[in-house]
Amino acid sequence: MRPTHLLALLAILSLPAHAQHAHGEGKLDVVIDKDSIAINLELPLDAAVGFERAPKNDREKAALAAAEKALGDAALFVPTPAANCKALPPKVVMPAFGAKAGADDHGDIDASYAFRCANPAALKGVETGIFKQFKRLYRLEAQRAGPTGQGAARLTPKSPAITW
Ligand SMILES: [Zn+2]
Repeated sequence: MRPTHLLALLAILSLPAHAQHAHGEGKLDVVIDKDSIAINLELPLDAAVGFERAPKNDREKAALAAAEKALGDAALFVPTPAANCKALPPKVVMPAFGAKAGADDHGDIDASYAFRCANPAALKGVETGIFKQFKRLYRLEAQRAGPTGQGAARLTPKSPAITW
């Protein structure tokens, strides 16, 4: 195999994960750097509103708007209270329903959250209320990186916190 063919193959293998998510399952990345927490959430649109395509009626438009509003609330994530963290404005990116409709069966909502903590030494974890907001979501595969190293956790409605 010529190197160019290998590169083409690698490009195919590394297609965006958006095309292959499992419904009901989101991804969470938590990075702690000194006094800052950065959280990135990737949520299948299906888990948020029950469909993954452009809205067909006012009810579906309202469901999308409600999901965007719910995800735009930084209170969805609660760092250890003793760490005294203040939230910066979250950023929510809803999927674009473009001309390529039908070409891709899936859509994800990407949201990011940031906190600045006055007492980062007390930071022991982050709890999320997201499972109460979105009943179709049953799992978040979480990864964290920070002063105590890296780790992974599976967050569920019964275990909605990542700790370190
Ligand atoms: Zn999907």
